[in-house]
Amino acid sequence: MNVIETREITYQYPDGTLALKNVNFRASKGMMVALLGPNGAGKSTLFLHFNGILRPTSGEVRVEDRPLGYKKEDLMKVRQKVGIVFQNPDDQLFAPTVMEDVAFGPLNMGLDLEEVEKRVKDALGKVGMAGYEKKPPHHLSGGQKKRVAIAGILAMQPEIMVLDEPTSGLDPKGASQILRILYQLNQEGMSIVISTHDVDLVPLYASQVYIINEGSIIKEGTPHEVFSDVKTIRSANLRLPRIAHLMEILEKEDSLPFDKPYPLTIGEARRKILESFKD
Ligand code: ADP
Repeated sequence: MNVIETREITYQYPDGTLALKNVNFRASKGMMVALLGPNGAGKSTLFLHFNGILRPTSGEVRVEDRPLGYKKEDLMKVRQKVGIVFQNPDDQLFAPTVMEDVAFGPLNMGLDLEEVEKRVKDALGKVGMAGYEKKPPHHLSGGQKKRVAIAGILAMQPEIMVLDEPTSGLDPKGASQILRILYQLNQEGMSIVISTHDVDLVPLYASQVYIINEGSIIKEGTPHEVFSDVKTIRSANLRLPRIAHLMEILEKEDSLPFDKPYPLTIGEARRKILESFKD
């Protein structure tokens, strides 16, 4: 099943900016999909279509294989299914305490207090923020805020989580904590879509990658499929993951015998190098 699909969607902002051009995007159930693109490519605009915040100028958005409806009741339903974590947690966190923030979504869904408390506890536990219930969100670090924002979405138990640049602005530890949480959620069956411009992170967690540039999807496939098309990657002002770049240089400049495809992560490179020493 496709949890989210867009068919030929185009979106023009009221000022005339054509931000999406005939975008076809699919995230199937249980997958971790990355939308990779430089700043201004259209990533946030596309995400805002997934739960009906924006309505395409033309084309169709489908959720769980059905066209998204734009009536109030339809939008309420779809927003429980598709949880979006925005890039800047300050746009999402507004309650005086962490607990109230995470409880906001489930309370709005009309759940009873006992269930809300259970969900808040579960969600904070999953993101490693148990014990912070009474803290005001603005006293937290960037990474902690992000984790609370994720908990707020998790507490609504969506079918899919969509995260706009979940690691941007975080230090390496904060970023890897977020990725570990997302990896774990995905292992437990959650479908996840994330946007990023960080090419080093993509092969670590994504099984499917879409590259967007100037409002168009210019490539899709597994990390190996998309990163083997170096020309397209560079045309979108992106680059190869550092490890793949190193292998490319070792092969081209130093004639070391590495077969393609180039490894994309340290783990893959390590295996390949050890193998080459065996011969
Ligand atoms: P990304 O998330 O990949 O950085 P965006 O979706 O934010 O890209 O932006 C895509 C394009 O749409 C850019 O050219 C941007 O300037 C434009 N854009 C974004 N928001 C608006 C808006 N509210 N009004 C007009 N143009 C916008």
